[in-house]
Amino acid sequence: MKKKGFLYILANSTFSEGVYKIGKTTRRPEIRAWELYEKSSGIPEPFDIVHQRLVKDCHEAERLIHERLKEYRINEYREFFKLSLVEAKAKVNQVVYFINENLEYNEKIASNEKVTIICRQCRKKNKLPKYALQLSLKCGNCKRKLVV
Ligand SMILES: [Zn+2]
Repeated sequence: MKKKGFLYILANSTFSEGVYKIGKTTRRPEIRAWELYEKSSGIPEPFDIVHQRLVKDCHEAERLIHERLKEYRINEYREFFKLSLVEAKAKVNQVVYFINENLEYNEKIASNEKVTIICRQCRKKNKLPKYALQLSLKCGNCKRKLVV
């Protein structure tokens, strides 16, 4: 079944140069990016969204992009790739162009600017990407709901 969604490219300041997470989501890329960070204790900093494209059939788009990125894949079981950002964007755009049958879908990329929120319960400073503010947040220290 065709399902509208996004192809995204995520970067992380703690990864080595030229390593990107490239995948799909049927929700907002901001939600996906935040979830990947929050659900993994192995990721020290939130992801930056460096590219996102709306696509008519995101499942097929992901299958195609992963096929085209095969030689750049770091680990067969994880969606991380090592290549230049210019090349990664070009490949994503080619797939999106193909799937959307030349229709242009344009999406503004969320701001990766960071903001500091002080937890009202434990007073700890939480440094978060601006895009995460629209989501339901927990304090990195006491795990209680952060009130923005
Ligand atoms: Zn707290």
